[in-house]
Amino acid sequence: MTATGLIIDGKAIAARLRADIAQQVIARMAAGARAPALAVVLVGEDPASQVYVKNKIEACRQAGITSIEHRRDTSLSEADLLDLVARLNADPAVDGILVQLPLPPQIDAQKVISAISPEKDVDGFHPVNAGRLATGLDGFVPCTPLGCLRLLEQTLGDISGAEALVIGRSNIVGRPMASLLIGASATVTVAHSRSRDLPELARRADILIAAVGRPEMVRGHWVKPGATVIDVGINRVARESGTGTRLVGDVCFTEAAEVAAHITPVPGGVGPMTIACLLENTLKAAAH
Ligand code: NDP
Repeated sequence: MTATGLIIDGKAIAARLRADIAQQVIARMAAGARAPALAVVLVGEDPASQVYVKNKIEACRQAGITSIEHRRDTSLSEADLLDLVARLNADPAVDGILVQLPLPPQIDAQKVISAISPEKDVDGFHPVNAGRLATGLDGFVPCTPLGCLRLLEQTLGDISGAEALVIGRSNIVGRPMASLLIGASATVTVAHSRSRDLPELARRADILIAAVGRPEMVRGHWVKPGATVIDVGINRVARESGTGTRLVGDVCFTEAAEVAAHITPVPGGVGPMTIACLLENTLKAAAH
């Protein structure tokens, strides 16, 4: 089914995906299996991480997925975190492991990610899963780009042959997004901070995905008329009134919405899909 409205309602699409996952969990348990189980590791007091973890745990609860929270003090050593990961890897009652990023400076995040069993790596950040995605093999795909692909599928149906531009090349969003788009037979360009003439690259794109971390960088005149714009960015900026802050994406929404055929809002676009895809990955880990 394809949507035709201007605003891509990530909240509604995510709600449908979550309801479907909840149904699959019920069916799994009716067949005698235990509930899927996700271990969530949070180190330190980062306020944004606390909110993300709280939301993920609540989403698990609503889907019938067991979440096991492991909170550790910000002074936790790398060795102790690696120990915890090793115990979770070995625990048959744990299907998926999520270590919330960022980690405190004394801990090498890449070392921790690489220590998670690839079969329990529901974030899809382990090099084995990154390699599986890059080579077109089945594995765990990072939740945010997977959510973006689901939004594109819901909105456009088949995207084969479409010109896609991904702005950003991080391991969490940009690179896996490019691999997913190649897998869906789009023609893919990846831009980054060294790219020349970004507006010109953007104007060619039928599908424009911004994952940069720069508030409202993509302007309306960059957008090809009729394009589909997926805004991954989450940036907190001061309100014009001078009181408090608000969230904006990497795309100037009001300008881009004048030109695009479809666009995700911030908030309410990609964010809810990230959580829904985490549940999808956890269910998949349990089915292994
Ligand atoms: P990173 O900082 O890891 O990567 C940013 C990328 O943008 C880099 O590849 C960088 O290029 C590129 N970049 C920076 N400045 C420019 C520029 N002026 N022109 C072109 N490219 C540029 O960020 P993430 O990928 O982790 O996240 C991107 C955004 O998405 C952030 O706002 C983040 O908060 C948000 N996010 C949202 C999620 C959600 O659930 N909605 C989940 C994850 C992230 P280079 O490699 O050359 O440095």
